[in-house]
Amino acid sequence: MTEDKKKSSDDNGGSKSHRCNFCGKPAAKVERLFAGFEAFICSECILLCNEILETAPETGDNKETYELSKPAEIKAFLDQYVIGQEEAKRNVSVAVYNHYKRINALSEAKRNKGSASDDVELEKSNILLAGPTGTGKTLIARTLAKFLKVPFCIADATVLTEAGYVGEDVENILVRLYQAANFNQARTERGIIYIDELDKISRTDGNPSITRDVSGEGVQQGLLKILEGSISNIPPKGGRKHPEQSFVPIDTSNILFICGGAFEGLEKIIARRVGKKQVGFDAENLDISHEAPEILTYAEPSDLLQFGLIPELIGRLPVFAPLLPLDKNALFSILTEPKNALVKQYARLFEMENVKLTFEKEALWAVVDIAEKKKTGARALRSILEKALLGLMFETPSKKDVEEIIITPEIINRTGEAEIIKKSQKKSA
Ligand code: ADP
Repeated sequence: MTEDKKKSSDDNGGSKSHRCNFCGKPAAKVERLFAGFEAFICSECILLCNEILETAPETGDNKETYELSKPAEIKAFLDQYVIGQEEAKRNVSVAVYNHYKRINALSEAKRNKGSASDDVELEKSNILLAGPTGTGKTLIARTLAKFLKVPFCIADATVLTEAGYVGEDVENILVRLYQAANFNQARTERGIIYIDELDKISRTDGNPSITRDVSGEGVQQGLLKILEGSISNIPPKGGRKHPEQSFVPIDTSNILFICGGAFEGLEKIIARRVGKKQVGFDAENLDISHEAPEILTYAEPSDLLQFGLIPELIGRLPVFAPLLPLDKNALFSILTEPKNALVKQYARLFEMENVKLTFEKEALWAVVDIAEKKKTGARALRSILEKALLGLMFETPSKKDVEEIIITPEIINRTGEAEIIKKSQKKSA
């Protein structure tokens, strides 16, 4: 397709006589005119078609059903990006499979209205991911959305307040998803929302309060409303609602909510409960310390209640997926193995300068050692590499003769330089 640019406001003669074959406007009256095979289309019509594609429901019988990927396929996709966290990945894969199976069943029931109806109601499988910071909670949610090709957004529970208070209304989360779905209502209603730091809106004492608690319980109540499935009227551009505005109704029943949090302190609650059990008749042989890495796998709803989540919210998060702290081997794998591993990303950046970037194994272990001390999971890896490679990223583009850069532990620990192999050196060798 070629572009027939507007040259003047006069629409007679030469290429200016061409018209858009859709709206009939002459080249001079439109911003841009594109030429195809024996036809023209103007930029306005392209935009209009795009809008129709985005908003109009698909045609065909299958319009509301999802092509389901099996849990094993979902997990295999997660494996490409998320290292370790086997239990969480399995839990999440099954939950997502069931979630979209449920949507398909609902669509099926809608289509077969009048015929024998299925009276088993499938409930939504919202997910709660609990584990230390930087262990892959957000990554799992983000990767799922990528796999499912559905709109996705991240919200932070700590900035939410009850409607009417200063802060963000819970409904603003839906506005963000709506924006991620390119303002398409139907796509919004099938999206995934990741709510981070759910643990930060817990009740402080773990007991149901009679007084209003703006920061905790009230927000949990607000979240509950959208999590359990309701119709929320959202102001399409966000912000506070005001009466003159037009609203878009969003049905949240098919939106999958994934909540995450570090839940610091939950370990002790679990350890205390599990420890107590040993005294009773059904004494399980479990003497687990709250410091054991796998402690969160023993969590039960009663522990979350004691932590300070309201029972209704716990009920709406039926899938609990614990994430384990990442050990050194996991951190090392995260540097090198995922599809978009940091080492691959930096190598690609240098490759664009025609420079080969090689990491010595010891250099990678040096990165892991520093990251482990920071206690922020895999989160620290990027900043460590960024700092260590900054000088090289600054200088290399101006140098012509560099063939290969070898990253040594010294450059990571800032005690020495990288090894640079020049093109001229190679030729003469
Ligand atoms: P959080 O658990 O706090 O939500 P994130 O998922 O945001 O942590 O992880 C922070 C960064 O660390 C991610 O961008 C990702 O690159 C990396 N990361 C964390 N955990 C893993 C993991 N299990 N596998 C691969 N990368 C990970």
